[in-house]
Parts: sequence; structure tokens; C-alpha cells
Amino acid sequence: IISFKQVDKWYGDFHALKNINLSIDRGERLVICGPSGSGKSTLIRCINGLEKFNTGQLVVSGQSLDKKHLKTIRGNVGMVFQHFNLFPHMTVLDNLTLAPRRTLKMSKAEAETLAREYLERVHIGHQADKYPAQLSGGQQQRVAIARSLCMKPDILLFDEPTSALDPEMIREVLDVMKELANEGITMVCVTHEMGFARQVADRVVFMDEGEIVEIAPPSELFDTPKQQRTKQFLEQIL
Ligand code: ATP
Ligand code: MG
Repeated sequence: IISFKQVDKWYGDFHALKNINLSIDRGERLVICGPSGSGKSTLIRCINGLEKFNTGQLVVSGQSLDKKHLKTIRGNVGMVFQHFNLFPHMTVLDNLTLAPRRTLKMSKAEAETLAREYLERVHIGHQADKYPAQLSGGQQQRVAIARSLCMKPDILLFDEPTSALDPEMIREVLDVMKELANEGITMVCVTHEMGFARQVADRVVFMDEGEIVEIAPPSELFDTPKQQRTKQFLEQIL
């Protein structure tokens, strides 16, 4: 469903992604890990066109990621950020219905029914009329996940969705992500939650200095890493 072929990206003269070759299957759950500055965010932001790459090819849902297809692809790819990125001046319900009404041209009633359904799925059905600031970090992140789901994406990207949360709220967000994983949506997650990676990921990618160093199922990558750089990284974080 996603295919990188020899993708390179520079920020000025900084080489941020180096010859990325990566195919992700429909329904796959992929976790990306690696040290700070290794290019994890850059890589996943390329998938929905938030970052442009310089050379190579990227195909998402059967369409080459270029100007012509950018809008369609964005509609197919949801993204959840570290800092939730909810609209502070809008209620939870309005945050959820905005894009379906604007982009999918749903009626207000239709969008609200859908929104309430997804709020139930992330276990905050009763918070629909609150504003983001009235919710805990974990609740806000679950609103952000529900908001992405309202666009019925084929692919959901997560960029360190639990890194900004207090420890006691990490669990509730990971639990929601696990539920989604079991429902078969394609997921690409940048996360340092190795427990989550072990439980949920089909494969784990280890990145360093803009390169994919190693890619393997979690048990292999964590227990018997092949590359020295992967070993060093795991020793630091585990
Ligand atoms: P972190 O774990 O800290 O989030 P990351 O692996 O997500 O790191 P990226 O954000 O992808 O790393 O950044 C990769 C490299 O590219 C970093 O060295 C960063 O400084 C650089 N970089 C990222 N965005 C820009 C930008 N807009 N302009 C210039 N350099 C950038
Ligand atoms: Mg990042």
C-alpha cells in the first residue's frame, strides 16, 4: 500500500533521507524507531506529503505521490502528532466534523453521527461538547485519533503519539492504538514504546542518520539485531 523506491531528501545541504527503499503491505503495522534526528518524522511525513522528497519514487494507495495525486492521497492517509494539533477554539465534536463536512461534503447530521461513533470507539463518547483544554492529554490524543478516523483513511500515521503524555496516560492511548491495529488498518508508528512494538508490530524499522539500518519482525530486531548500530541503540533504550 506504500512503496518507497530510492527516496532521498535534503534540507538544504543536509541529507535527511538516504536511499530509502521500503514496501509496506495493506494492513501491516510498522513501527519506526531510531535516535533523535535520524529522520523518522521526515520519513513518515513524506507519506502524506507534509514533506517533499527530492529524488526517487513514493507510491501510496496505488498512486504516485506527486502534485496531481496529493489531495487524494492526503484524504487516504490520517496522521496523529505528538502534540495532538486539535483546534483549541472548537469543541471536540466540531474538531471531528470539520474535515468530513469540508472535504467529504457530509451533512452536519451525518458527520456528527460518525463523529460520535468514533468518540465511542476511543472511549470518550461523553466528552463531545468539551473544548480540548478541558481534557487530559490522553483524552486529547484519543480525540485526535478519532478525528483522523472520521476521514476513513486507509493508512494511519503516528509520530510519537505518546511522547508528550504523562506516564499514566500513555497506556490509554496505546490501548486505543492496539484496538485499531486489531481492526486491520495499515499503521505506521514512530514510537519509543518498545512494549507496544513487540505486541503490535509486524515489522520494526531501525533508522540512523537518515538510513534504514535494519528492518525485521520485533522479536528478531530486539532480541537478535544484526547490525552493530541497532545493538548500540537498543542497549541505550532498553
Ligand atoms: P526526533 O526523534 O527528535 O523526532 P527524527 O528522527 O524524527 O527525530 P527528523 O525530525 O526527521 O528526525 O529530522 C531529521 C534531521 O533533519 C534532523 O537532523 C533535523 O535537524 C533535520 N531537519 C528536520 N526538519 C528540518 C527542517 N525543516 N529544516 C532543516 N533541517 C531539518
Ligand atoms: Mg521526530
